[in-house]
Amino acid sequence: MGTSFQGYITRLIAWLKSFPWPYQTAIAQKFGPSRLPVPNAPEDMTSTKQYEGHASKAYMSLKMAFRDIGRLNAVGETLGRDFLTAMPEGAYKSRLGQIAFLYRRMHEELSDEKLHGYLEEASEHQKANPHEWDEWDNANMREMEAMYRHLACVPADLMERKARLAYEGRRKHRDVLKADDWSEARPFLEDMVSLQQRIAEAKVLKDNAHPTDELYQSLMREYIPGAKLSDVETSFSRLEEKLKEILPWILEEQAKRPEPIPLIGPFPAAQQMWLNKSLLKVMGFDFDRGGLYETGHNPVEGGTPDDTRLVIKTSDSRNFLESMKSALHEGGHGIYIQGLPRDTWRYQPVGQDLGAAVQESQALLIEMILGRTKEFFTYLAPRVEGLFQKFGDPAMTAENLYALKTFVKPGVDRKGADEVTYFFHILHRMRLEKDLIAGRLKVKDLPEAWNAGIKDLLGVEPQTHAQGCLQDVHWFVGKFGYFPAYTMGHMMAAQIHDKMKLDIQNIPQLMGAGDFMPVQAWLLDKIYRNGRLMRSDDLLDSVTGAKLTPAPLINHLQERYLGAL
Ligand SMILES: [Zn+2]
Repeated sequence: MGTSFQGYITRLIAWLKSFPWPYQTAIAQKFGPSRLPVPNAPEDMTSTKQYEGHASKAYMSLKMAFRDIGRLNAVGETLGRDFLTAMPEGAYKSRLGQIAFLYRRMHEELSDEKLHGYLEEASEHQKANPHEWDEWDNANMREMEAMYRHLACVPADLMERKARLAYEGRRKHRDVLKADDWSEARPFLEDMVSLQQRIAEAKVLKDNAHPTDELYQSLMREYIPGAKLSDVETSFSRLEEKLKEILPWILEEQAKRPEPIPLIGPFPAAQQMWLNKSLLKVMGFDFDRGGLYETGHNPVEGGTPDDTRLVIKTSDSRNFLESMKSALHEGGHGIYIQGLPRDTWRYQPVGQDLGAAVQESQALLIEMILGRTKEFFTYLAPRVEGLFQKFGDPAMTAENLYALKTFVKPGVDRKGADEVTYFFHILHRMRLEKDLIAGRLKVKDLPEAWNAGIKDLLGVEPQTHAQGCLQDVHWFVGKFGYFPAYTMGHMMAAQIHDKMKLDIQNIPQLMGAGDFMPVQAWLLDKIYRNGRLMRSDDLLDSVTGAKLTPAPLINHLQERYLGAL
């Protein structure tokens, strides 16, 4: 009897499924969709979305293919962290080979014809059977297609070379910066620019709807997916105009107050690391799934939600605020990564972060916006006074630490720049990298163009190459098009902060008590746990009720540096 009853039910479901899809949606909700299981899914994970069965066989194959690409990427991240922290010098050459090989394999998996076939088949299934696809599956498909479109057009040789040069570049940058050696840097950068141009050309062939600076835009989109260069430039023009107007007022107002008292070290590296780790714990960073490490290289964030290793420098023993700034910044990246939907979507594209601009928004929200409030320094001051045994030191008061971190001074250095002039460093770099990629500027002329540009924007002149065009690691690791993500992120951070203030009304008191939990919970709910469910524009709109605009950042800077207007 059981068998014939089941047969009846099967025929009934088949009959119901022949209805047009709005009815099917109702039926699917009632009886559950007809899901095929994923072959070889680990038994304890079948309830996760990564391994959940799906009516489209092609989509399940895609989920497994992207899981494997994600696994390779996680291995690459681990090799990279090891490169920066623990690898013996003698392993340098073999490590470059390992990393380059791994990235080539990843690229081959992604650009495989079979994967393309699955994408087409799954997309057809999605159109014909929308009731079988929930919003997360739809978003996952959209992100799979976007990754394929963005990367599969680039030949594997170029991707392999890119991975190798990125790690060679880290070391090259460390060395040329130390030696202030432009003649060593120049041929390397020439190689890098030409590689980037070739990668951009491969991308533009696929997507040539943009007439000006399309090569640069295609590189920028790796960091700010979907962004139009013209939109970025419109926001930047508005910021430039407004900040040029308010900077003289800020300096004038500041001159009326006494200068902050400089810190006097030493601040031993071990204690700086203790402070930085403590602050990460306060922020809600989970040390069971990550850690904070020291490097002789530039700071780096990244890894996976299960293994988020942040890497910073503590080389300045005269000023603990420098490494603390990196810890807050990288910590902002870190809690975002750890909050991604790892249990359900682990390696799937929809489970990843939204790219560099949103990443930077989370880092700058903690580092520059919340981490530079008067109240935060009220929390910090007695603790650092005790930690570094600087009892009664007038430089270590909350007021003075706040004054030090909010002192505005046009300078040659981006990383040490204050919150107001920081933008000009980004604008300067974006103009130069755009010209380099378009071929309007040759690498050999970079030092001169650099010095002229920064003088024009901020009235300052670098005395050495290290203070000028050698200061940043980005171009050495091939990140052309990354710089605008900092300012786009700063704008997003200010816009998100405005909304957060409405939802959590006592943020200053919370900062004063070192209580980041309500802020972290809010960010987890509004941003982190959504992964790539929405594109960044839509996410920002859903969180703040508006598209990205520079107005909140301008208001924030005016309020903090000129007082409420
Ligand atoms: Zn960052």
